[in-house]
Amino acid sequence: MNFTDQVVLITGAGRGIGKALALAFAQAGARVAVNDINPDSCVKTADEIIASGGQAVACHADVANKLAVQAMLIDLEDRWGRVDVLVNNAGVEPHKPIVQLDEWDWNRTIDVNLKGAFICSQSVGRMMQKQGGGVIVNIASIAGRAAGLRDRSAYVASKTGLIGFTKECAREFAAYNIRVNAVCPGVIITEMTAHLRQNEAQLKKWLEDIPLGRLGEPADVTGPVLFLCSDAARYITGQAINVDGGKVML
Ligand code: NAP
Repeated sequence: MNFTDQVVLITGAGRGIGKALALAFAQAGARVAVNDINPDSCVKTADEIIASGGQAVACHADVANKLAVQAMLIDLEDRWGRVDVLVNNAGVEPHKPIVQLDEWDWNRTIDVNLKGAFICSQSVGRMMQKQGGGVIVNIASIAGRAAGLRDRSAYVASKTGLIGFTKECAREFAAYNIRVNAVCPGVIITEMTAHLRQNEAQLKKWLEDIPLGRLGEPADVTGPVLFLCSDAARYITGQAINVDGGKVML
């Protein structure tokens, strides 16, 4: 898939799935805006892309902070003048039973995973409306497709909300030639899931439930996201696609 000269903004791209997406889009010719809340990690991802001959800029901002996102987009518009693709990938996942989850954890999870996607989609959506089109992909989770992840109440609520928000954005933005879809990964090997992989009993149970018999890697998510952002998916909007080795068939 060819994204030559397209401007692609990926949130939470300092590591994990977001970083893999940044590298994959850069390899496909895109100019990549690498966002992260961690200033060092987004510079590292951007430097890696530039060192391998690609085009990238580090865009430090907390996606839950509207003013920070707006400042980031003003800088990006000055530099590259447009955003063709937005991937709302930044996310956090606290795990505690409901009776122990404090309000801060609940609020932060909803703020980053759901409000962050709203803030970025609203501001970038306005740019895409002016420029005549664009594509948004939200990285949700199978946790939002079939609840049942124990001790993840805030996360499940945020990802379920993100899938609903995806459909609403798709409906509202369609008239402006903006497509919006969600990708719902299963368990992918990143720092976010390190705790799960350390628990042998839990890992064995997960693997038994995955028809393809293995956990996912960040590279398993990049293909579906690039496809949804490409012209090959030009008639697809408002969908949530599971990328989970067949764990959830819905
Ligand atoms: P990860 O390894 O924890 O990476 C997430 C990245 O997002 C980190 O670099 C993090 O920075 C950054 N981030 C966190 N809060 C942010 C904010 N407010 N603004 C900007 N950046 C922020 O997670 P991942 O596994 O790659 O997950 C990426 C996305 O996929 C998330 O939305 C996650 O919910 C979703 N997902 C992951 C899995 C999985 O199994 N890994 C499964 C389903 C869905 P810091 O670490 O410095 O805070």
